[in-house]
Amino acid sequence: MKTHTLLLGVSLACGAVALSCSQAPRSDRGGTDPELTAFIGKIRVVDNHSHASSVAPGDSDQDALPLEAIFPFEVPVRLRPDINPDWMSAYRALYKFPHSDLSDAHMNELRATMRQVAENQGDKFPAWVLDQIGTDVLLTNRIAMGPGLAPPRFRWVSYVDALMLPLSTKAEAAASPDREKLFPFEDKLLRRYLADLHVNKLPATLEAYLESVVTPTLEAQQKGGCLAVKFEAAFLRSLDFDDASLEAARPVYSRHIRGGEPSHADYKVLQDFLFRYIAREAGRLGMAVHIHSFHGPGNFYRAAGADPLLLEPAFNDPALRKTNFVLIHGGGAYSAHSEAMLWKPNVFVDISGLTLLYTSARLAEVLRGWLTQYPEKVLFGSDAAAYGPDSGWELAAWIATRTGREALAIALTDMVRAGEVSRESAREIATMVMRTNAAKLYNLELR
Ligand SMILES: [Zn+2]
Repeated sequence: MKTHTLLLGVSLACGAVALSCSQAPRSDRGGTDPELTAFIGKIRVVDNHSHASSVAPGDSDQDALPLEAIFPFEVPVRLRPDINPDWMSAYRALYKFPHSDLSDAHMNELRATMRQVAENQGDKFPAWVLDQIGTDVLLTNRIAMGPGLAPPRFRWVSYVDALMLPLSTKAEAAASPDREKLFPFEDKLLRRYLADLHVNKLPATLEAYLESVVTPTLEAQQKGGCLAVKFEAAFLRSLDFDDASLEAARPVYSRHIRGGEPSHADYKVLQDFLFRYIAREAGRLGMAVHIHSFHGPGNFYRAAGADPLLLEPAFNDPALRKTNFVLIHGGGAYSAHSEAMLWKPNVFVDISGLTLLYTSARLAEVLRGWLTQYPEKVLFGSDAAAYGPDSGWELAAWIATRTGREALAIALTDMVRAGEVSRESAREIATMVMRTNAAKLYNLELR
C-alpha cells in the first residue's frame, strides 16, 4: 500500500531533538499515550503557515488583506485572552508571567516585560521565539519579508490575488461591506507589483499583461526565495475557478483595461483564466499554491464560497498537475470535503488556524479523518499572527504549536489503541505531520 511504504520510508532521526521549552503537550488530555506524547513534544516543527511580524517598527507587510480593515467582527472565544486560559499559559512560557490573573496592573507589568524581551533580542527576536516553541522552520505569508525574518528558518509565502484583478474592482467590491474595504488593498498591491517591475501602465492586451507583469512578478518572487504563493480569494469571491480560455478572457481584459466596470460574469471569466495561469506558472517555477479555505472571518464573509469542493474542477485540470495545492486551514467546517480532495495527487491540507480556534480534542477528530486516509498529505500550521496588542504572533505560535502537538497525540493514541496503526507508525506519522511532509513538499534541507 502506498501509505505504508511511505511511512516506512521516513527517517525519524531528524525529528527528535531535546527541547529547552515547555511545549510538552498536557498528557492528561484525552488520556494520551505518555511515550507518544513525549515524542511529539520533542519534534522540531516545520510550520506551514503564519504571518510572523518582522522587527521593523510599524511592520505593515504582514498581510495583503489586513483584517483590521473589517473590524469589529465576532472573534471566537479561543482567540480571547480574557477567556481562553491558553493565553495565560503562553504568557507564562514565553515571558515568565508570574501571576494567575490578568488584572490591569499585572497586564501592564506583562507589557513591560514583552517590550523588554523584544528590545533585548532585537533582530534575533523572531528566531528566539522559534527556539522557545521548538519550531525549526516557519513559513511566513507576507507581502514581503523584513528584518529578523531571514532564511533558512523563516521562509516566504507571497500573495497573488492582486495579479488576478487588473481591472477596476469597484463593482466586485460593492458585493458586501467587507469586500468594499478589502478590494482596495488588492488594487494597492498590484500597483506595488507594477512599481517593482518599473511598469508604469498596465499593458493593453492580456497576452502582454501575462508576459510583462504576471510571469515576471512570479519569477521575481521565486528568485526572492518564495516557497509558495497564496490566494486569499475566498475573502473576495467564490473558489469556483472555471476553465476559462484565453479567447474568452482576452476581450474582457482589452475592453476594460482603460476604464469602465466589467460585469461580474465577464470579470469572473478573466479571474478564472488568471487563477489557472498563475497556478500553472507557480508549478513551473516550483512554488506551491496556498489557498485560504475556511469558514471565516468577517461579518459578511461567505463561508459557502470557501468550500474546497469548489476547487475540484481546478484540481482535476490535467494542465495543473505539476502544481501542488495546499488547502490552508484545512477547509475549516468543510474538513470532510478537504478529505475528499486529498484523493487528488497534488492536493495537501494544513491545520493552521484550526490549531488556534479549535480545542485539541476537536482538532484530533479532524486529524483522525485525514490521517487514516492520507497521512503524507497533512501539514502542521499555526496561522500565528499579531491578533492584538496582548496577543502577538509569538503567543499565537506558542498556543497553536502546543494545540497541534496535543491534537496529534490524541488522534494517534486513539489510532494505536484501536489497532489502526502500530506505535512505530504513529511516531512516523507524527514526524511527517509536524516536520517531514512540509520538508518534502518544499524540498527543504533540514539540518
Ligand atoms: Zn493566515
